[in-house]
Amino acid sequence: MGAEIAKWVYTRIIVIRHRTLTAFRRVITCTGILEFRPAASRRPSLYGRRLTSANLFPSQMKKNRQFVAALCLLIAAALPSWAQKGGPPDEPPEASGRADAEFLQAADEVLAEMSNLLSLPIREPLKKSVRSRDEIRQFLLRQMREDKDDAKRYADQKALEALGLIPKGYPLDQKLVALLTEQIAGLYDPKQREFFIADWTQPTEQRLIMAHELTHALQDQYFHVEKWEEEVKTNDDAQLARESVLEGSAMVAMIDYLLRGTGKSSRDIQDFDPSLLVGDVNDSPELAQAPMVIQDEITFPYIPGAAFVQRALRQWKGWPDVHRLFENPPASTQQILHPDLYFRGVMPAQVDLAPLAKVVPRGWKKLDENVMGEFAVSEILKQFLGKEQADAIAPSWAGDRYAIYQRESRMQILLLIRLKLSEEAAATRFFGAYHSLLEKKDQTRTAESRRQNFFSFNTPDGGVFLRCYGAECLIAEGATQAMFDAMISAVHWPPALPAIPESDKPAITVQERAVSPVNTAFRTIVLSQDAETLVPAYAFH
Ligand SMILES: [Zn+2]
Repeated sequence: MGAEIAKWVYTRIIVIRHRTLTAFRRVITCTGILEFRPAASRRPSLYGRRLTSANLFPSQMKKNRQFVAALCLLIAAALPSWAQKGGPPDEPPEASGRADAEFLQAADEVLAEMSNLLSLPIREPLKKSVRSRDEIRQFLLRQMREDKDDAKRYADQKALEALGLIPKGYPLDQKLVALLTEQIAGLYDPKQREFFIADWTQPTEQRLIMAHELTHALQDQYFHVEKWEEEVKTNDDAQLARESVLEGSAMVAMIDYLLRGTGKSSRDIQDFDPSLLVGDVNDSPELAQAPMVIQDEITFPYIPGAAFVQRALRQWKGWPDVHRLFENPPASTQQILHPDLYFRGVMPAQVDLAPLAKVVPRGWKKLDENVMGEFAVSEILKQFLGKEQADAIAPSWAGDRYAIYQRESRMQILLLIRLKLSEEAAATRFFGAYHSLLEKKDQTRTAESRRQNFFSFNTPDGGVFLRCYGAECLIAEGATQAMFDAMISAVHWPPALPAIPESDKPAITVQERAVSPVNTAFRTIVLSQDAETLVPAYAFH
């Protein structure tokens, strides 16, 4: 669910979520950059091209694809030694006093440049230090131990399992720790407001990362980002939207840093597709093996987030206006995915789960109640029906609320989801798609029952029920018929009508919704096959 998943993943690592997200995320960032094998190692001719202003603006930006390709080249040029090494160094640190001094000076210079670029004067000196790989690893493990929220993590894991987004018993903790500690280049610690740099990286490699990380540091001085994220800690969807503002602005600021002195900025890119700047997830073995939802969750704040922030930059006058996003943050991943909805002030519908919760029998313990959001709904559809159907159906999300329970005596799980769609026709389409999804997900089902806009069956883990009425849908997994009937009655829905003829069964075909298909536009390929994406989203945080 947008939420949990988000939570999880996104913190990427689950472990730390609620309280220390930030520190973790920082890590990821830097982790990713080290993981990254520059395209140059696979395509030396591209990489070897000399960077000149002519390369950067081949035809005065008449063609965006050339512009974006040039931008990628520029990023490649900023990361020379990785390409030469062909990957992160495994050899012992080569730290020296001189190298340390260069790091520290580079951090000060980049901080000054970012301060100017973002119109955020430095309020306090940046604490920074050069640390060994092991020191950074120990710091992370300590943070994970101190901050991990066992109850939330457990609830997220159970919900993700129930939704079929991760295998049952998936060793999430172990995987997250492995991912976090796989490679670490540095991090920004928001608690101590300190920027760490690994002692085996080179100043030239670090400047691009610094531009991203120090954007976080500067925003933190003004907007206290951890506290700002905590304001919506009971709404995972809203929290992922705020995370997208943080990561998106750091990505776009990084691009502006690259373009400084050229007379151009990220605002000049018309069909901005930040996914082009993101590396191949397969370059990180741990990430590549992670379930799809985890991969998507990790990259969400960087890709749709960057597109959202770039749109805000174009809509408004520049960075000073973009800082308003902290005063009036996007409320949902839907607003991030479809910025028009944010600018038009279209808010998610509030969904009340209380009537359903009241009929859950005693003996069931609520593990969590939260919001999935369009992102998580899309992930669920994508997992079973593919991206095309997910892109067609998920934008009709208008609001949701879900709860996950555990029956203490038998370790059974009950998942309840109440979903509002944009209109009744959208709910009918959702029903058709989700009906198909459930069939694919539970292939050993028994005692199927189909009525109009109603579908149910039994599984060894309990009954599964799907019912839509008006513009709403209700899903219960792990329930009983009596429990679901009581829920339908509690929300004052009429009983489902009798079965309908085969020919009238819900079609799975879905129509595009009118709500701006921003994603589709983003995905327009603006790069030639020769161009490579060069910076992994998870390289930053
Ligand atoms: Zn970041």
